[in-house]
Amino acid sequence: MSTLLIEGGQVLLPDMRVVEADVLVDADEGGILDVGTDIEVDADETLDASGGLVMPGLVNAHCHAAMTLLRGYADDKPLDAWLQEDIWPAEAELTADDIHVGTELGLLEMIKSGTTAFADMYFDVAEVVDAIDEAGLRARVGHGVVTVAKDDEGAQADIDESLDIAREFDGAADGRVTTAYMPHSLTTVGESYLRESVAEAREDGIPIHFHANETTDEVDPIVDERDERPLEYADDLGMLTHEDFVAHGVHVDGAEIDLLATRGTGVVHCPASNMKLASGMAPVQRMLDAGVTVGLGTDGAASNNDLDMFDEMRDAAMLGKLATGNASAVDAESVVQMATQGSADAIGVQSGVVEPGANADLVVLDLDSPHLTPAHDLVSHLAYAARGSDVRHTVCDGQVLMRDREVLTMDESAVLARARDHATALVERAE
Ligand SMILES: [Zn+2]
Repeated sequence: MSTLLIEGGQVLLPDMRVVEADVLVDADEGGILDVGTDIEVDADETLDASGGLVMPGLVNAHCHAAMTLLRGYADDKPLDAWLQEDIWPAEAELTADDIHVGTELGLLEMIKSGTTAFADMYFDVAEVVDAIDEAGLRARVGHGVVTVAKDDEGAQADIDESLDIAREFDGAADGRVTTAYMPHSLTTVGESYLRESVAEAREDGIPIHFHANETTDEVDPIVDERDERPLEYADDLGMLTHEDFVAHGVHVDGAEIDLLATRGTGVVHCPASNMKLASGMAPVQRMLDAGVTVGLGTDGAASNNDLDMFDEMRDAAMLGKLATGNASAVDAESVVQMATQGSADAIGVQSGVVEPGANADLVVLDLDSPHLTPAHDLVSHLAYAARGSDVRHTVCDGQVLMRDREVLTMDESAVLARARDHATALVERAE
């Protein structure tokens, strides 16, 4: 067994207490062996955490990593116009190579800002998995299905691809990759298609991830047409189990919140995307109070415009207060919980805690900087003051992905150069 010792720092425990401790990792199996002050081991590898905080790697529970290529391409428009006028035409030009390169850029950004696990909905998922395998992160991936504006053959092919991918790549990258069936949303996939495909996914034990209740434009047509709320419709289709998770959940009513809590379906709050697209303010505190599993996600870089989960925690805390008119709502501890254990539970990966027996998905934050001084309360700092660039080391599944800000699993300058080239060519084709 080869061991990794992270020494000399403070550690954020699952109950949000911060203690001085070292962390011992089984680098072969990828698990945490011990957290304590009396670890006497001649470790094969060490990481210096002095002056730092060892914390769980952040879990980005809803993302479209390759959309980093469209970062800053189209801003300042509502969701519908933004998708139809800018994003979908550009995405129609994406090649498998573009998706590989864009995913790499997203993974590089995640490693450098302390994210070790994420959920990804996109296309050409083989490329996404390949990039994840190389970079060393953990993820639940899937192919996003849209049937509107397709003929029956095209729609069926899209569904089959999503289901096939979910079967094929589950357990890839030494088990770091898991999968889900990912119909894009309740309005972009037709009812008969949903009914059939969800039954198929259920038969094979495949979890389901979809966008839900993101804007009123998405909710109203379902209510008008069916006389039921979108999540009641989803429940009727069998899409709300404890293995499933929905992105956004902005416009949900009390009955839908109860339904999510009863079914154990995770909700991924994406505050930056919801603010940028003026989608609305999710009732996050109400969902937490009702016992809903709430995670946190950046959504795609085109509607954020970065993948920094520290930004996302701050946005979630701020928006949660504004939404309720209550400064005590969505407090620091809640958002740190959401970005770690909440997200991990929502997407169904073993991650988000630093304790013996857990997967060694963790980061070391450098606390020695003006914006993190003094240190009255480190959980407050994580929610309100820390940035992705404060992350010094990143470890996933026991493997050191970044040491002293140097990414070891990717060639950073080559990834950036490729991303620039591919992004430029992509938007030229789309225009
Ligand atoms: Zn999304």
